[in-house]
Amino acid sequence: MSPGERDGRDRARSERAQKERAQKERANEYDASCARCGGPVPAGAGVLRHGARAWEVYHPEHAPEPGPPPPGDHSGWHRRRLLALDIGSTGYRPAVDRIRSAALRGSDGTSYDWIVDPGSDIQSSDAGSDLRRGIRSDLRGGIGSDVPGRIGSDVPDSGPTAARDSGSPVPPTVTPPHRALDELATLVAAHLAAKELLVVWFAPHVLTTLHAELLRHGLAPLTERLPSGVAPVCDPLVLDRHVDRYRPGSRSLRSVAEWYGVPHARPGDPGSDAGAALLLAGTLAARHPALARLSRPALHTEQVLWYAEQTSRHMDAPAWPFAPVEPLPWEPLPED
Ligand SMILES: [Zn+2]
Repeated sequence: MSPGERDGRDRARSERAQKERAQKERANEYDASCARCGGPVPAGAGVLRHGARAWEVYHPEHAPEPGPPPPGDHSGWHRRRLLALDIGSTGYRPAVDRIRSAALRGSDGTSYDWIVDPGSDIQSSDAGSDLRRGIRSDLRGGIGSDVPGRIGSDVPDSGPTAARDSGSPVPPTVTPPHRALDELATLVAAHLAAKELLVVWFAPHVLTTLHAELLRHGLAPLTERLPSGVAPVCDPLVLDRHVDRYRPGSRSLRSVAEWYGVPHARPGDPGSDAGAALLLAGTLAARHPALARLSRPALHTEQVLWYAEQTSRHMDAPAWPFAPVEPLPWEPLPED
């Protein structure tokens, strides 16, 4: 498919989505006053929006842009211990690309950052600019513009300061891959073994790359560390698409964090991305009681189904939450 055809298809899909949303938009059943101007709104002539505690009626021209539903105070998995994982990588070929940095952020204050030395052969390939090119070509060939972007221009320059989250003035030291990967896998496996949710934005990229990297360095992958399965995983991208299927616009972590008002200081930085994913998981459950009341195993299982629906038109969509791929030798990203 040519870029033009894809643009046309995306535009048609976006217009269709807006139309469906307009049709679904609820009108006021009774005469009311506009919440913006106070003027009368005859029954059926206004539109409804979620206010802080109740539905509010507006003249159509006075209605604010729709936003996410307000958070409730219900219980659910979002009140448990959550741990979020993110990586920075040389690209989006999970069997080939290497982890350059990684971060864990926990709802209990857990915070780890690693800068990984992927080896001189890989560094000498100028992976930073390859990364930018690779993301664009990968997404073009991948499951389309509605796939998260690891965001092209948002990707930070590589280097020891890039993966630093706020809090410590000391940049993390560069760690050999086998040590960083083993530390990371040990912490993640312990969290999952306790049956607590691992939050991963776009899990297929992060967990598949991690699987290949662990094998590449002679370390046990998560599948071996967790005989009962790599679960439960919580992917806020899958959840957001499920609860707000027709929202137009980008589903990059940056855009989704902005939509929900979640702080996200440095898009592309694994620490900042993991922190935003952690807060997004919590706010999605707080705003959608039907999500929050799923058990952790059910949340995992439902996401498998939701992700399959969300990617049903993409033959080459990666498996959720990951695919146990064999590592392949390094090769530089193809030029555009
Ligand atoms: Zn009005």
